[in-house]
Amino acid sequence: MLGLNTSAAQINGLAEQFESAEPREILSWANRTFGETLAIVTSFQTTGIVTLHMMGEIAPATQVLTLDTGFLFPETVDLVNALEERFELNLQRIRPRQTPRQQARDYGDRLWERNPDRCCHIRKTIPLREALSAYSAWVTGLRRDQSANRANTPIISRDSRTGLIKIAPFANWSEDKIWAYLRAHDLPYNPLHDIGYPSIGCWTCTKAVNQDADSRSGRWSQRDKTECGIHIEQITKPARVGAHA
Ligand code: SF4
Repeated sequence: MLGLNTSAAQINGLAEQFESAEPREILSWANRTFGETLAIVTSFQTTGIVTLHMMGEIAPATQVLTLDTGFLFPETVDLVNALEERFELNLQRIRPRQTPRQQARDYGDRLWERNPDRCCHIRKTIPLREALSAYSAWVTGLRRDQSANRANTPIISRDSRTGLIKIAPFANWSEDKIWAYLRAHDLPYNPLHDIGYPSIGCWTCTKAVNQDADSRSGRWSQRDKTECGIHIEQITKPARVGAHA
């Protein structure tokens, strides 16, 4: 089976093989190949919802992991609960070791303003890496059209953080195609998308943006940070004294 010992050449070959495949075909292959050692990781944004809907028709018991940082918008929490029930998801909410209050005690108030990389590391990267240690492969909703950082996302790759096989079945889908799928299947989505939030993370670090703005520009909008570190490592310049996230 594919896993830690799979060579880079083999992984590149798979990425090439699936470059023009439909996501349904890629998800079916992932299920056949990895079975119970496959996890879908989603923050219940639009691509994640399409992923869950398609996988529901292929292998509904697939493990779904979502990060609950303790700073989710109420709208996101409601959507997760609603889709868990509607899709009968095998869902695990991954939580950091520290509550927001414990983090404030140990690192000071509003760590996300002073050192968002550390905050994301504590609340996202470490908990997800620990949760994924039980799996061989994970599915992500990364798309190439989301940002310059993601423009070269391969369909299949080796995740440098975990060593697992990482699968991005929708890497070459456009945002319009995702929305067309959601509408065609009458799927619910986060209502924040309708009031200017194209990408939704923690309420502490997510802002509404203009209609024409880059889809990730509302995340850490006053910093040079655009990624939480789960997918792409990023070192953010320290905040100026008095600067806000
Ligand atoms: S998005 Fe903001 S609040 Fe959430 S984990 Fe990262 S820095 Fe912390």
